[in-house]
Amino acid sequence: MAGFTPRITEMVDLETPIVIHPLQACVTEPMKPWLDTILVSGSLHVYVSQSSRGELVMGSSLDPYEVHSTRSTLDFVEGLTSHMLDMFPFLSNVKVVRQWAGMADMTPDFAPIMGKTPIEGFYLDAGWGTWGFKATPISGKTMAQTIANDSAPDLIHSFRLSRFEDYELTGEKGAASVGH
Ligand SMILES: Cc1cc2nc3c(=O)[nH]c(=O)nc-3n(C[C@H](O)[C@H](O)[C@H](O)COP(=O)(O)OP(=O)(O)OC[C@H]3O[C@@H](n4cnc5c(N)ncnc54)[C@H](O)[C@@H]3O)c2cc1C
Repeated sequence: MAGFTPRITEMVDLETPIVIHPLQACVTEPMKPWLDTILVSGSLHVYVSQSSRGELVMGSSLDPYEVHSTRSTLDFVEGLTSHMLDMFPFLSNVKVVRQWAGMADMTPDFAPIMGKTPIEGFYLDAGWGTWGFKATPISGKTMAQTIANDSAPDLIHSFRLSRFEDYELTGEKGAASVGH
């Protein structure tokens, strides 16, 4: 449960290195279709796509501070929109109509924690950071296998919790495309 994983693991006395950072996004008023792909700038750390309703959906990297809050900030929208105008000056009169923040479970190597834990019957599928929903089908499948067999399939071995004790991290910083 993104944003609440540390509270839940605390209930069973399980330590993980997950910390919570906000991740913000925003949406503009609808426009006629002009963008039929998702654009990501690795140097400006922003992304934009256009929804089927014509709104631009935009976001950037994680907020740099650890906080358990879904409050969105003016600082975020100012920074993001100035980068958007660097790329697309013609957007200068387009209004931002909504902005929000979610809480992201962050691990030190930007990879999720999946599989068994030292506590019998307590499995973890957390720490998905900024890119968890694109992995949902395969994480559902592999976690179902883990629970049914009480053993994680090889495919998710690199995401085991014990990697942090074994110093065998799984660097996935590039998976989100924008910077962290
Ligand atoms: C602004 C923003 C943009 C993002 N963009 C992307 C993106 O482009 N691509 C991407 O792949 N990922 C993206 N993510 C990240 C993605 O949303 C997360 O990594 C993913 O949702 C984490 O999945 P999760 O299952 O760990 O937690 P969650 O998605 O938080 O799921 C936890 C579920 O548990 C439910 N729940 C809560 N309490 C209880 C309870 N007591 N009993 C039962 N159920 C309960 C909640 O309702 C929720 O449905 C983005 C996140 C944010 C905030």
